[in-house]
Amino acid sequence: MSVFSHIDFDHHEQVVYGHDQASGLKAIIAIHNSNLGPALGGCRMWPYANDDEALRDVLRLSRGMSYKSALARLPLGGGKAVIMGDPHTGKSTALFQAMGDFVDSLGGRYITAADSGTGVAEMQIMAERTRHVAGAGQREGFEGGVRNGDPSPSTAYGVFIGIQAAVKHRLGRDDLRGLKVAIQGVGQVGFSLARHLKEAGAELWVTDIVPANVRRAVEQLGATAVTQQEIFALEVDVFAPCAMGGIINLQTLEVLRAPIIAGAANNQLADASLAETLRRNECLYAPDYAINAGGIIDVCYERTGGSAAQLKAHIEGIGDTLQQIFQRAAADGCSTTQIADRLALERLNGGE
Ligand code: NAD
Repeated sequence: MSVFSHIDFDHHEQVVYGHDQASGLKAIIAIHNSNLGPALGGCRMWPYANDDEALRDVLRLSRGMSYKSALARLPLGGGKAVIMGDPHTGKSTALFQAMGDFVDSLGGRYITAADSGTGVAEMQIMAERTRHVAGAGQREGFEGGVRNGDPSPSTAYGVFIGIQAAVKHRLGRDDLRGLKVAIQGVGQVGFSLARHLKEAGAELWVTDIVPANVRRAVEQLGATAVTQQEIFALEVDVFAPCAMGGIINLQTLEVLRAPIIAGAANNQLADASLAETLRRNECLYAPDYAINAGGIIDVCYERTGGSAAQLKAHIEGIGDTLQQIFQRAAADGCSTTQIADRLALERLNGGE
C-alpha cells in the first residue's frame, strides 16, 4: 500500500517501518511535522487487522500530535508509533528492546511515550536502548511528593482547568460549587478529574464498565453511579467523556442534554461535522486535543526540565487557550474545532 497517496497522508515528513524477526516486532513510526521541535507522541500497541489499519492510525495520530503540541505552545513536533500486536498477549522484553532500538535509529527526531497498550514498564524497557523516551523515570509531582512518569494526573488537572473555562464562557459562572457533572469513564484521568471537581464543590454522576472503578468514585467522592446508557441523558451542566473516542455521535446527540461537553477522551467526535451540529445546538464543545493536552505538557517538561510549579502554570494555560477558542468561535460563528485547528496551524507555521 502506498503512503503518499493514502487518504490520511498530510505532508508527513517521515514514515518508517521497523521489523525485528527475533522478537516479532512489527512497527511503524510517523513524524508528521517537526517545525517546532522533535516529534513527540505515544507508542500504541494494538492488534491491528492489517498493515493498512496500522498505517492509517499512525498517520492520523501523528498529525494530531503536531496540532496538540502547537496549540499547547510546546517546543515539540508531532509523531507517533504503532506496534502491531496484542497488548494482553504479545508483550515481551525483547519486543520493547527492539522497539527501543527502532526509536533510537531516528536519532532523536522522534521521542516516544506511553499510549494505549503501553505504560511506564514498557517505557523503562525502551529506555535501556534509547534516551529518546519519555515517562520512564520518577519526578516531583506538582501536588507534592514523588511520582512516576504517568502523565494522567496532569491530563486530569488540565481538563479541570478547561471545564472552569467552559463554565465561565457558557454559563457565566466563576466557581464550580453545585455544578452538575457527568463523567463517562472513571479510570486514571476520569477519577483524578472527579477528585478535582469534588474539591471544587461539584456534584458528580459517574459510569464505567469496570464496577470497581465506579465503586471507588462512589465511596471516596460521594458520586452517584448511573448505567452506561443513563450517563448521556442526565440533566447536568457538563458531560465529561473520559473513556473512549467516537462517543459524540448521532445516537448520543439525540439524548445529550448538557450545555457543555468537556473531557479527556481523544477523538470524541465520531465525525468532524458534528462540531457544527453542537454549535447549532448551543452546546459548547471543548476540542479534545486542546483540553487534554496536560499529559503532553507533562511529558515535555520531563524532557526539558522545569519545576513542578512551572509545569502547573503551563497546564493552566489550557484555560487561556480554550477561552480564546470559545471567544473566536462565538465571534466568527464557527465551531470550536474549526477555530482550534486554525489556531494550531497558525502556531505550527510560526504565527501568533
Ligand atoms: P483508563 O483506561 O485509565 O480509563 C478509561 C476508563 O473508561 C476505564 O476505567 C474504562 O473501564 C472506562 N470505559 C471504557 N469504556 C467505557 C464505556 N463504554 N463506558 C464507560 N466507561 C468505559 O484511561 P485514561 O488514561 O484515564 O484515559 C481516558 C481517556 O483520555 C482515553 O480516551 C485517553 O486516550 C484519553 N487521554 C488520556 C491521557 C492520559 O494522560 N492518560 C492523555 C490524553 C488523553
